Amino acid sequence: MSVHIEIDHRKARHPEKAHRPDNQIQRKPAWIRVKAPTHPIYHETRALMRANGLVTVCEEAACPNIGECWSQRHATMMIMGDTCTRACAFCNVATGLPGPLDATEPTRVADAVAQLGLHHIVITSVDRDDLADGGAAHFAAVIAAIRGAAPATTIEVLTPDFLRKPGGAETLATAAPDVFNHNLETVPRLYPSVRPGARYYQSLRLLDQVKRLAPLVFTKSGLMLGLGEERAEIGQVMDDLRIADVDFITMGQYLQPTAKHAAVARFVPPEEFSEYASLARAKGFLQVAATPLTRSSYHADSDFAEMRATRAARLAA
Ligand code: SF4
Repeated sequence: MSVHIEIDHRKARHPEKAHRPDNQIQRKPAWIRVKAPTHPIYHETRALMRANGLVTVCEEAACPNIGECWSQRHATMMIMGDTCTRACAFCNVATGLPGPLDATEPTRVADAVAQLGLHHIVITSVDRDDLADGGAAHFAAVIAAIRGAAPATTIEVLTPDFLRKPGGAETLATAAPDVFNHNLETVPRLYPSVRPGARYYQSLRLLDQVKRLAPLVFTKSGLMLGLGEERAEIGQVMDDLRIADVDFITMGQYLQPTAKHAAVARFVPPEEFSEYASLARAKGFLQVAATPLTRSSYHADSDFAEMRATRAARLAA
């Protein structure tokens, strides 16, 4: 059974995509199917998010792993609103002009993190091209608030690209999350159709800058597979990430949210994901996650613990 996600239909989520021709949604292969959420902790997590007025990417992106993750209290909070200034062809987050930042959000997020009692939390956001700094200072405020309210919790941020927002990398590096994640999402050839508002080399440069400014911060990036990329192109992206000294690569199957989104070119079988995982390890990544259901934040806590242990072991050797 597939997961049912409640979506607010009162406003058009993707007005910019309304004129696009429909791409028929393909039936998912057996290895993609997930169970409906029934666990009591899933409902507790949901209630906690509602009580604190928090937005999660788990719901906004209609993530297939929500039943599993929320049953373990793993929710990825999405800050700076539920409306994005970009219109990526793969993404289910609503596009539009967002409202002003909420100054109470860092405290509300930190309180929820403390209540969840997690070892590790992932915080992401919409793109905020409307803000002078792209929301970098708000990310820093959220990190600081979590450090205060839940000092034992390690923090992973998954940020926008801060394109044309000078100082973004510096602000995030100074805020020193445990993990800085920014997804390349796809290979450079597909950027104009899949990520039209972004620039491949800006995303790569951001990862490189954060690592150079804060070498102890783990860096992480991810790719969606099944959008039409070639094997050699994936290898090239891995090489680019290693040159930027990125520690952790994630790869998962792209799933088409609606008929107005980019079509799935192919469902990549699990064995092929295993081959990409082997290739990534051979190229020197400290940590690799590559399965059809892998998402940036999927198993982020246990992967972080493993990555930290691997680095400590390498430094001790
Ligand atoms: S994989 Fe990430 S986005 Fe998906 S449900 Fe889990 S925490 Fe949320």
